[in-house]
Amino acid sequence: MRSRVRARAAGAFALAMLLSPSVGSAQPLEPPAAAASSGLPVGASVPGGFVVIPLEADGAARPTASFDGRRVLVIPDGESYAAIVGIPLKTAPGNYRIAARGATRRTYAFQVEPKRYAEQRLTITDTRKVNPSPGDQARIARETKRIAAVKAHWSEQEPDSLRLDLPAQGRLSSPFGLRRFFNDQERNPHSGLDIAIDTGTPVLAAAAGAVIDTGDYFFNGRTVFIDHGQGFLTMYCHLSEIRVQPGDRVGRGERVALSGMTGRATGPHLHFSVVLNNTMVDPALFLPLPSSPPKAGAR
Ligand code: ZN
Repeated sequence: MRSRVRARAAGAFALAMLLSPSVGSAQPLEPPAAAASSGLPVGASVPGGFVVIPLEADGAARPTASFDGRRVLVIPDGESYAAIVGIPLKTAPGNYRIAARGATRRTYAFQVEPKRYAEQRLTITDTRKVNPSPGDQARIARETKRIAAVKAHWSEQEPDSLRLDLPAQGRLSSPFGLRRFFNDQERNPHSGLDIAIDTGTPVLAAAAGAVIDTGDYFFNGRTVFIDHGQGFLTMYCHLSEIRVQPGDRVGRGERVALSGMTGRATGPHLHFSVVLNNTMVDPALFLPLPSSPPKAGAR
């Protein structure tokens, strides 16, 4: 029960951070990705968010934990550990549980609160990108499989940090979770954060990690995936040039690519996604707090 209370409190805190203007605050605001006391990130227990679940101390062994059959990130939390659980966007509000395994097996309950994301309507003139040809569909099916495999990547190494830096400085043009309609057809909701930057702008690793995949995909264009450890990944899309190869280790802030508008893009921008336990989650939860939330429909 304790974990559930904390999960709820974490969600409320993140919401309060989003709603409260920073103007007039005498104290520096804690970024949303760091809890005041423990240094753990503060999630948002909503679809597309993540929840921090303290695990009971269970002997010396580091516990493993899973949600919906998928391993989740477990990091040290004081004398014990905490699970950082990504919540898929399509999750219905309600009660869920994770299974943890240390010296004994335990389950921990948490609650997912509803969240309403904004809508955006776009007109795409290159209809090939909206209604792909049969040949394109075969390519898309191949790429979907490959990207699914990359998203499921797991390495045992613990991330250096759960704080991410913006991979490029620019206007946040389209937030995570946006419900998108292309030529009035509803598509998948926006699975990342868009940063409007000119083609050729350096794209920097959001944290230290290992490059696990690069490719040129129908929708995402030229893309780099970085593994930060234990299923915590970042993805950079629509690049004009890729400057790294799978297997490369990169430091935080290291240039990995140049931005562009390859794949399905209506203008030059960087699409930046964050993955936890094979689930796309809101990158804003890991970034320093912006002065105002990104506006929907700007691009
Ligand atoms: Zn995007």
